[in-house]
Amino acid sequence: MSLIPESQPTSNSVDRYRRQSAYGNLGKAGQERLRSSRIAIVGIGALGSVIAERLGRMGIGTIRLIDRDWVEWDNLPRQTLFDEHDAEQRLPKAIAAESHLRAINSDVQWDAHVCDLVASNAVELLRGFDLILDGTDNFETRFLINDVSLELGIPWVHGGCIGATGQVMGIVPGVTACFRCLMPDPPPADQMATCDSAGVLGPAVSIVASWQAMEAIKILTRPRGQAADSSKADDRCELITFDMWSNEVRKIYLSPVRPSGNQTSANAALQISSTAGCPACYEGRRDFLHGDRSSLVQVLCGRNAVQIQSASPGKVDLVRLADRLRADGNLTLNPFLLRFEAENLTMSVFTDGRAIVAGTEDPTVARRFLTHWLG
Ligand SMILES: [Zn+2]
Repeated sequence: MSLIPESQPTSNSVDRYRRQSAYGNLGKAGQERLRSSRIAIVGIGALGSVIAERLGRMGIGTIRLIDRDWVEWDNLPRQTLFDEHDAEQRLPKAIAAESHLRAINSDVQWDAHVCDLVASNAVELLRGFDLILDGTDNFETRFLINDVSLELGIPWVHGGCIGATGQVMGIVPGVTACFRCLMPDPPPADQMATCDSAGVLGPAVSIVASWQAMEAIKILTRPRGQAADSSKADDRCELITFDMWSNEVRKIYLSPVRPSGNQTSANAALQISSTAGCPACYEGRRDFLHGDRSSLVQVLCGRNAVQIQSASPGKVDLVRLADRLRADGNLTLNPFLLRFEAENLTMSVFTDGRAIVAGTEDPTVARRFLTHWLG
C-alpha cells in the first residue's frame, strides 16, 4: 500500500529525492527503504525539531512526534521549527511541529502525540517502529527509551547537547552496547549541568541533531535480516563527543555485544565499557520500564517547574475544568491544555491528566497546589 495519500497532489518523489539517492551509499534502494520506514522522535524541542525536519525532508514514510510541552518564547533561539505565533498561542510542540512539517513534506505520514513518554505508555507508543530518536532533555526518559529498545528490539539514536558540547550514539539491540553499558544509572540531579545553568547554543544543537539524523539513515537503510557486523557503518559501537567551542571531536569505542574480527576503529581515541555486567542488556533488567525506577513527579530541567503525571490515566474534560476554575484565577484554554494562574503559581493541565506547575521546583508545593485546585 502506498504511503502517499491518493487524494493529494504530491511532488514527483523520484525528482524530489534525486540528489540524495544519487549518493552511492544511499542509492534508490536506500531511498525506498527510507520511504517504507517508521520512526518515532521522543521530544520535539531543540534536538527533535532538527531531527524531524531533516528526516522528514528526506522522505521517511511515517514519523511519530511525541512531546509533552508547549512552545515558549525562550525556545525560539534554538527550536528551529517554531515561530512567534506558536509561542503566542502556547501551542503544544508536537501539534505546532506537525503543522509546519506537513507544509514541508506532505508525503510523510505525520503523527503527533501530546503526551509524556512514561513507563505506562512507552511500549504502546513505540511498538512497531523501526527506530527511536532521542530528542529529550532528561536522563530518566533516555533510560526508559533504552529499556523499550531492548524489550522490543528497536534500535535508537541517543543525542545530548549542553553549552557547546554534545554527544551522539547509535544503539542497535543485540549488536552494539546499550545506553546502560555506557552509564549504568542516571547521574544525581544535583550533579548535572542543565541547559539553565550551563546554557546551550543553537548551532551546537543542530550539529548533534544532524549527526543523529545521519546515524538514523545508516541504521534504517541497512538491509533487513542481514547479520550484524561491527565493521559496518550502522553497526559501529561508538560514542561520538563534540566540543564545538574548541573544535574537538572524539570517538569512544564501546565493546560490541557480538565481537567480530574487526573491532578496533583506527580513529577511536579511547575504548571503554563492556556489555558484560550491564544491568539492562547483560542481566536483562528493565528497571525503568517496569516501574520501580519510574516516578510520577519530575522537577523539569531549568524550568522552575514540576511535572506531575496523573496516577490514573484518562481523558480530562478541560472545558468542564475551566468552568470550575474560571472565577478563581487567570485562566486560558485551548483544545490541548488549560492554563491557570493563582497564588504566584501557574498550572498547565493537559487532556491526558498530566499537569505542570510553574513557579516552584518543590514537588510538595506543586502537589499541594494541584490538590487544592484539581482535588
Ligand atoms: Zn547494556
